[in-house]
Amino acid sequence: MTEKIDIYSLLPEELERYFLSLGEPKYRAKQTFTRLHKGGGIDSLSSLPKALRERLKEKIIDTLPTVEEKLVSKIDGTVKYLFRLFDGSVIESVLMKYQHGNTICISSQVGCYMGCKFCASTIGGKVRDLYPSELLGQIIMAEADSGERISNIVMMGIGEPLDNFDNVIKFLRLVNHPDGLNIGYRHISLSTCGIVPGIYKLSEVDIPITLSISLHASTDEKRSAIMPINNKWKIEELLRACVDYYKVTGRRISFEYTLISGQNDSISDADGLAAILNGAFRNTGAPIHVNLIRVNEVKETGFKRGDTDSVNSFRDRLEKRGITATVRRRLGSDVNAACGQLRRSRMGDENSTVNNDIKVIASF
Ligand code: SAH
Repeated sequence: MTEKIDIYSLLPEELERYFLSLGEPKYRAKQTFTRLHKGGGIDSLSSLPKALRERLKEKIIDTLPTVEEKLVSKIDGTVKYLFRLFDGSVIESVLMKYQHGNTICISSQVGCYMGCKFCASTIGGKVRDLYPSELLGQIIMAEADSGERISNIVMMGIGEPLDNFDNVIKFLRLVNHPDGLNIGYRHISLSTCGIVPGIYKLSEVDIPITLSISLHASTDEKRSAIMPINNKWKIEELLRACVDYYKVTGRRISFEYTLISGQNDSISDADGLAAILNGAFRNTGAPIHVNLIRVNEVKETGFKRGDTDSVNSFRDRLEKRGITATVRRRLGSDVNAACGQLRRSRMGDENSTVNNDIKVIASF
């Protein structure tokens, strides 16, 4: 087994220690960090002596994803990337262009362990966690490929970010670093299916990102039927963790609610949702927000999408009960099949045997 340094996963202070271990001055760390994060690759490190660059190339593993396939929306320019990772796995990222800046939706794992019944990403289970460098790499490569600067990140792609907690936290520190991409925590949101201990841990690390909760139902019975995680942590515990997150961080919480025709999209479901949110957040002053999404149909799951009238009535009912709600605008509808479906269509081509004898060192 050969050990290789995952250089894109290292924070500047770790890079300093790494350069010192090579007998090099630590001032090389900052310039290296900045160059790599701006997408230049090792060959762009022209300020390093050539011999050192060659030495580095032998010692490191380049974990940046490569563009395997790219679909560009003819309607609004949304770009869906299928990225290939160093071990042959594939993941998806989506680059969306808004008036207030470019937003990227990134994956956090190869596959997903959570088993939500309507979701394509979880069908084959979880293959592995992404390294911090691979989380960051989706942004570096999307910027390099598109020539666009990315200002907002949503962690809503394949995988459950709080099931890859340590690597996600390290990624957040990397992407926020002033010598690197320098994306503010307020421009980042993380979506979770409801891993309650992870929410408490997140509130303690002093990384004030926006938390987004995939709620999708207002009773435990209905939620457990579509989201197995709810058997472990019930809605009440989940909402208590959200209130705590708000109290500690002061950050607003948003709730994702995917409308599935005939299952959770009736007016009484809207009343139920308003009741639990109003109940949990009463007297806290927390700004909360509900995002309504019509389910993307996935052929393996059989869940059906309702019409626009039903989603509008649902939103109006929430508003009437004092809950701010918006219907998620559907960007890239011609390329944006449900998250995870593009990957699934390419999974047969995966070749995960290539680098199995390499041990990846992602901290130093
Ligand atoms: N694991 C995290 C983040 C990834 S999923 C989470 O559960 O929040 C991102 C969002 O897409 C979640 O709200 C998820 O429930 C939703 N989603 C998954 N499959 C969907 C589908 N087929 N249609 C609509 N939304 C879906």
